[in-house]
Amino acid sequence: MKTIKDVGEFGLIERIRRKADVRDRSILKGIGDDAAVLRVGRIGVGLLTADSLADGVDFHLKKDKPELVGRKLLAINLSDVAAMGGWPRYALLSLGLPPGISVSWFDRFLKGLFGLGRCFEVKLIGGDISRAKQFWASLTLLGEAPRQKWISRSGARPGDLVFVTGTLGGSILGKHLAFTPRIREVQAILKRVCPTSMIDISDGLIQDMGHVLKASRVGAKIYGSMIPISGAARRLGGSPLAHALADGEDFEILFTLRPKEVAKLPGRIFGTKITRVGEIVSRQQGLKFFHSPEDRRIIHVSKKGFVHF
Ligand code: ADP
Ligand code: MG
Repeated sequence: MKTIKDVGEFGLIERIRRKADVRDRSILKGIGDDAAVLRVGRIGVGLLTADSLADGVDFHLKKDKPELVGRKLLAINLSDVAAMGGWPRYALLSLGLPPGISVSWFDRFLKGLFGLGRCFEVKLIGGDISRAKQFWASLTLLGEAPRQKWISRSGARPGDLVFVTGTLGGSILGKHLAFTPRIREVQAILKRVCPTSMIDISDGLIQDMGHVLKASRVGAKIYGSMIPISGAARRLGGSPLAHALADGEDFEILFTLRPKEVAKLPGRIFGTKITRVGEIVSRQQGLKFFHSPEDRRIIHVSKKGFVHF
């Protein structure tokens, strides 16, 4: 018997996608990017995304601070809106609650969620509650962007340069619960340049770079010596570079840029580093990891990033 596990997360999404009819003038992008893109009004687009957290899978109710769980639920959605080049507006909160959960846990969860919501002026306007064996929460976020300025995963072209924000790896030591979604940084980047593609790094650089390459039908060369490795990746043990390339949940932004625009990009935005890590090449060349542009020894990357099943 074939199971959910055999098909895998992306196999399941593909089964759903095949059934979903998105032939509608108002749908500019359906399933397959960081957010769906809808025509709204005359000058803007709506960016619609949903993400969930479940006890025992994405966090541990008995161990993790409830404020950080609530904060993360919103932050992972904000990260997807950031990756489309937009800013957040409205949210719906759906909850599956075991009846025995304490009200104080629940209030602290809400405190974390609303605290981050105030920072980004997100308005919670609805949702749903039902009973569940294990706690789960799902947040749906509607963001917006100007009609001509939203950024998909699919615009990277050979010759473009690849950049990442912040530092990568070892998020398990804490960043995965307390990261800053890069809404403001992306808006600042968009004031200066027009990236050709963008994605947030939720499943690790290798896997998320792969999503951009597949959607854009291109390949890439990534240089190990240029990767901004986090302090946490160095503290974790094992290869810091392997952590930086494969660990999930950094929620930094990966984007591509035409070379002629690079001079307009600052080295830091609001204190967050912007680092060039490689370049886009033709699809036939695939995704390859080299030591540096001068030192063409290949780095063999074994871990493929975080997978759900
Ligand atoms: P992200 O990591 O950016 O949140 P995902 O890997 O979760 O993206 O999802 C990839 C794409 O598949 C997105 O367009 C998302 O909306 C879509 N998707 C995921 N789960 C479902 C589902 N249950 N039904 C329809 N679309 C889905
Ligand atoms: Mg995403």
